[in-house]
Amino acid sequence: MLKTSDRLPEQASFRTVVDSGDYYIGRLNKGQTLRILDLEGNQAADTLFYNADNPAERYSMSDTLSAQGQVYLTTGSRLMSNEQRVMLEIVADTCGRHDTLGGACATESNTVRYDLEKRCMHACRDSWMLAIGEHPEYGLTKRDIGHNINFFMNVPVTPDGGLSFADGISAPGKYVEMTACMDLIVLLSNCPQLNNPCNGYNPTPVELLIWSS
Ligand SMILES: [Zn+2]
Repeated sequence: MLKTSDRLPEQASFRTVVDSGDYYIGRLNKGQTLRILDLEGNQAADTLFYNADNPAERYSMSDTLSAQGQVYLTTGSRLMSNEQRVMLEIVADTCGRHDTLGGACATESNTVRYDLEKRCMHACRDSWMLAIGEHPEYGLTKRDIGHNINFFMNVPVTPDGGLSFADGISAPGKYVEMTACMDLIVLLSNCPQLNNPCNGYNPTPVELLIWSS
């Protein structure tokens, strides 16, 4: 469901631009609101969330979809943990829908989906691993990397139940906004994928904004 936000960028307590192929890792405390802004359009932001006090509790695609009874995420979606607790709620969305079925790109999936020569190409899973390696203070390890949300990514479910990575429905300036219901760690890879249309074959930056109330 499309919904705009009343929050003003100049009142945000934190702003940063994440280049394509780069990552962001940081805290989002209970009550804070995070906006992910698709600056140039048609970009995918592969994102994971963890309970900051117990990272073994993490975002769960299956619990989220079974709780809401629909396959896409948008305004009103409550993002659930593997302990069936609400981690965040999407409070605004000018894109319309977001994927949580397609998974993140990895060197392994790139070779299966595209070509053996793609194995050396940069992928979201590498960015996540770099993030947790460079930031041991968050206590995350490889075993904490699970299924994720692909904000802005268009992965329609086909009539026969398959998935297709389709051209994006986002555009410059579209955003999604979510409020934390517990203290969280946010781990985001701004997707460097060049082999499918999720980034328009041209990965671009996203901006993150956080409001404290
Ligand atoms: Zn990716």
